[in-house]
Amino acid sequence: MAAELAVHVQGLRKAYGDREAVRGIDLSVQQGEVFALLGPNGAGKTTTVEILEGHRERTGGEVRVLGYDPAKHERAFKERIGIVLQTTGVDRYLTVREAVELYAGYYPHPLKVDDVLPVVGLESERDMRVRRLSGGQQRRLDVAIGLAGDPDLLFLDEPTTGFDPSARRQAWEMVRNLRSLGKTVFLTTHYLDEAEQLADRVAVIAGGQIIAEGSPQELIAAQPDTTIAFRLPDGIALPSEVASALGGRVQTVEGLTRIEASTPTAALYALTRWATEQRVELADLSVARPSLEEVYLTLTEDADSTAGGAA
Ligand code: ATP
Repeated sequence: MAAELAVHVQGLRKAYGDREAVRGIDLSVQQGEVFALLGPNGAGKTTTVEILEGHRERTGGEVRVLGYDPAKHERAFKERIGIVLQTTGVDRYLTVREAVELYAGYYPHPLKVDDVLPVVGLESERDMRVRRLSGGQQRRLDVAIGLAGDPDLLFLDEPTTGFDPSARRQAWEMVRNLRSLGKTVFLTTHYLDEAEQLADRVAVIAGGQIIAEGSPQELIAAQPDTTIAFRLPDGIALPSEVASALGGRVQTVEGLTRIEASTPTAALYALTRWATEQRVELADLSVARPSLEEVYLTLTEDADSTAGGAA
């Protein structure tokens, strides 16, 4: 297996009794990459991540994380990974500095607290007691603790669940800081905008199988249609010859007409030529590629219907 990969998984399987939760998946994560594993509830994300962390046994397949087999529970492996769970039980009466130092003490080559706190944006809270931190700050402290041992690979599980928009932006900044330190980040998230913002590459898992993989831009580009939307003035309808020249599906809901166009340049030309000639102003005119969220919903709906709805 390639030594330069942070994570290399081939044919991974996990069965709970006679139920297969992970059904032969392949995954590769490059060093220094932010990688997001996405998928609906029950898709097999937690099972996969916990096998990579060494917390669950696999039923079959090959797994290498930083060149180690996590199932062997080697100390050297544990020292090189950091795990940030959704809840960590930090003593709430410690200060931020004391909490990070406590965890750093378990590792042979930890980072200095003064180097960790700026990465997570908690320099000003250095001497504050943990119980006084806001929810968002506590989550960033969890990341500081995961980072304390100077891991090469950090697992981040749902890092912004329950955050307000500004706390989410700060957490995103923190993940970007981790990337600029050269850390590999393995992220699980239910927020597609988060994956689109942060991840170099994503994999979508559904029913225990990888159904799509690539950069967010590649997954979006693989979707053929661009949406053109506009509103026509009252009493004006799109003539049928213009509608048929748009070369796509045309739908009007509550006055907003949407065209899913596979050749958007030609569709826009037909539409705007007609509107200009007729002196019709197209209100709220927009042209948009699908977001990663829309692509994800299409992919997972397709996977669900292929599986006949059976998870
Ligand atoms: P979520 O987004 O809801 O956390 P997930 O993608 O992390 O879901 P998993 O927790 O990996 O999904 O679960 C995958 C499947 O395996 C589910 O059908 C789940 O019920 C089953 N499963 C998970 N853990 C166990 C277990 N310890 N024993 C039996 N079945 C399990």
